[in-house]
Amino acid sequence: MKIVKTIQEVQEIVKEWKEAGAQIGLVPTMGYLHAGHGSLIEKSVSENDKTVVSVFVNPTQFGENEDLESYPRDMDRDSAFCEKLGADLIFNPEPETMYPQPFFSHVFVDTLSEGLCGRTRPVHFAGVCLVLTKLFHIVGADRAYFGQKDAQQLLIVKRMVKDLNFPITIIGCPIVREEDGLAMSSRNIYLTDEERNNALVLSRSLRLAKEKINAGEADAGTIKKIISDEINTVSHGGIDYVEIVDTERLDPVDTITGETLIALAVRFGKARLIDNIIIKKPNQRPS
Ligand code: AMP
Repeated sequence: MKIVKTIQEVQEIVKEWKEAGAQIGLVPTMGYLHAGHGSLIEKSVSENDKTVVSVFVNPTQFGENEDLESYPRDMDRDSAFCEKLGADLIFNPEPETMYPQPFFSHVFVDTLSEGLCGRTRPVHFAGVCLVLTKLFHIVGADRAYFGQKDAQQLLIVKRMVKDLNFPITIIGCPIVREEDGLAMSSRNIYLTDEERNNALVLSRSLRLAKEKINAGEADAGTIKKIISDEINTVSHGGIDYVEIVDTERLDPVDTITGETLIALAVRFGKARLIDNIIIKKPNQRPS
């Protein structure tokens, strides 16, 4: 497995692979890899001849007061991890390589980028769309793999690819959790033992919501209150949002019917954690 830092090196390697008829999978990450990333890499390795993992802490998707500087990085560990899972290439560019100055171009998916995480992170998804546009063009992969953990990101990327005719297939992969239910995240490293224990309330509150919905509760307001009340049984640094939205426009719904996303973001100490579930209910027939 090779690690390269320049766009030219990636393009030369991929060109050779393509000339040999290889199908190429891309797994975009910000590094500090864990089993959640691992599930994406494994899927790509199983579905493609070659797998490229990008490791890039993308500055354009961080707001001014966010954790760009302190975001965890460990390239030695990441490269051993990727190699073990059978990846073929790591693309690990410097910010100057991805954003040579001056830089004037932007990619933005409206509506879907505005709610949920977009409300408190107004520049985030424009930064995500920009870096993914560049990575998709640089690598020229046939497929790219994303986690359902970042549900809004996955929907936005799928929409961008569809709206703008990118020649790539986007594949969503399930959330990988620790044994006790905490969704894996590079940011979990910020948590103290006590905060980590409190953060278990996220998956617990979503499981509770699912139970209530399965038992017949369909009122979104009631479910949101059940989730918030559960979160408030522990000490936390603030609920950013608890939202129940449809999975096409991410519009809030009043009644849970069809395919519905329940998503939340809550702060614990230095970490802002997200989690979600998708509920699939048969559409209610008009009476
Ligand atoms: P990140 O490095 O946080 O930007 O994540 C890179 C990719 O890994 C994104 O597509 C994430 O959705 C995905 N990912 C991160 N955590 C998990 C997880 N716990 N389960 C599944 N996918 C994940």
